[in-house]
Formats: sequence, C-alpha cells, structure tokens
Amino acid sequence: MQNVSKRFGSFLAINEVSFSIEKGESFALIGPNGAGKTTTLRIVCGLVKPSSGLVKVFGEDPSNSRIRSQISILPEDAGVYEKLTAWESIYYYALLRGLDKSSAEQKAEELIRVLDLQQKRNEYGVKLSKGLKRKVLIGMCLVNDPKLLVLDEPTDGLDVRSARNVRELLKALVSEGKTLIVSSHNMLEIQDVAQKIAIINKGKLVAEGEPDRLLANYGARSLEELFLGLTEEGVT
Ligand code: ATP
Repeated sequence: MQNVSKRFGSFLAINEVSFSIEKGESFALIGPNGAGKTTTLRIVCGLVKPSSGLVKVFGEDPSNSRIRSQISILPEDAGVYEKLTAWESIYYYALLRGLDKSSAEQKAEELIRVLDLQQKRNEYGVKLSKGLKRKVLIGMCLVNDPKLLVLDEPTDGLDVRSARNVRELLKALVSEGKTLIVSSHNMLEIQDVAQKIAIINKGKLVAEGEPDRLLANYGARSLEELFLGLTEEGVT
C-alpha cells in the first residue's frame, strides 16, 4: 500500500501508511491498542475503503471479487457457529465460499486432519475451548486455499501449547508458499513467525523491515525494547 490514509469522521486513524510485502512472505503488523492495525488489515483485504492512497494485492484492487476470493481474513473478534460442530463449521463455510458439496466435504476432512481436530470434529462450537475455536476459525479461513492469509491476533487468549501449535501451522502455510499478514501483541510470536515487521503508532508507520535489521539499526536488544522505544501508550 502506498500513502494510505483512513478517516473516520474527523479522526485520522491511518496516516499516509506505505509498505509492501513480497509473495510468500510472512509480515507482522505491531502497534499499541488503537494504533490502526485492524483498520490497516481490513484495508488490505478490501473490506474498508481507504480515504486516500493506493492499495494493491497481487497487482489489483483488493475489493475486486477475483482478488477477494484469493484472500482470507480472520478478524480478531470472530466467533464460530455455536450450533454447528467443528467439522460442520468448516464444511458450511466451504459451501459459502463456493465449493460444491463433495469438494467442501473433502476440504473439511483435510482441514480437520491438518489442524489436528479429529477428536473434536463432532463437538459443537458452543462447547469448544477458546484454542479449539481459534483453530476451527483458521480452518474456515483455509477453505478457499487463499494465497493471502490475514490474521488479526491469531493466538490471542490461547494457552502456550495451543499458541505454539497455531504458530507452527502458520509457518507451515508460509513454507507452502502462502503470503501471511498477522497482527499480534506477542513479541515472541512475531520473532518466531514474521520475516518482516512494521510498527504502527497512532496511525503512522514508524519502522518497517526485517526484525534483526531493525534491532541493529535502532540499537535495540529485543523487539520489546524496539517497540517501547518507538511507540507510546495505547489510546484504548
Ligand atoms: P487493538 O490493538 O486495540 O485491536 P488496533 O491497532 O487494531 O487496536 P484499530 O481497531 O485499527 O486499532 O483502530 C484504530 C483507531 O480507529 C481507534 O482509535 C479506533 O477507535 C478507530 N476506529 C476504528 N474503526 C472505527 C470506526 N468504524 N469508526 C470510528 N472509529 C474507528
């Protein structure tokens, strides 16, 4: 994206933000609460129209339906269908995204296996733990085999093991060639998953690049130190 700004009324939520991500790269957007991460992710996915600036995904406007079909986003506040089982949630979502019945069935089976959800496949959403709900949601994001996966705080609220499983899954998806954009407040997670990061503060990008290079450039010993040096207290 190039010089992208987003206003909500008179409030400037995103201020002239520019960054680029290579195909097959994993990119993390970090910043304090209210800095503009979710808004930026929604703009990348074509769900929010920028007030000004240019956004291209795979060379095209992300609101274009052909490009939208290659993108999946996991919103930070997404919930599973409470009255559907883990398997059904993935299956019905696959139908919603245009797969025929037999492909949707196959896809649900494949994702239940890949996500290691076999033992919970028949559990209703309402009974799933937070970690398993998150896994089912990631499964739902994968039904269309997206080229770009955008995950807003994918491991928020997960226990150590579940978070690690999700991180391993994300790294595997990147090694398969998917492009990944995540937002996270967890610096260890970012260091583990992201090849490139961008730090956003009060709607403005304050640093962007490979974590090791940024640490060296700013003379910081850790991402946490870098983050604290470049950002101010959250606004929400
Ligand atoms: P968090 O880490 O808390 O999730 P964030 O970095 O994702 O925060 P955003 O959700 O992008 O931040 O919000 C950026 C700013 O824009 C906030 O001040 C928020 O209140 C504001 N904002 C976001 N969406 C809207 C909207 N639809 N209308 C008005 N203001 C909005």
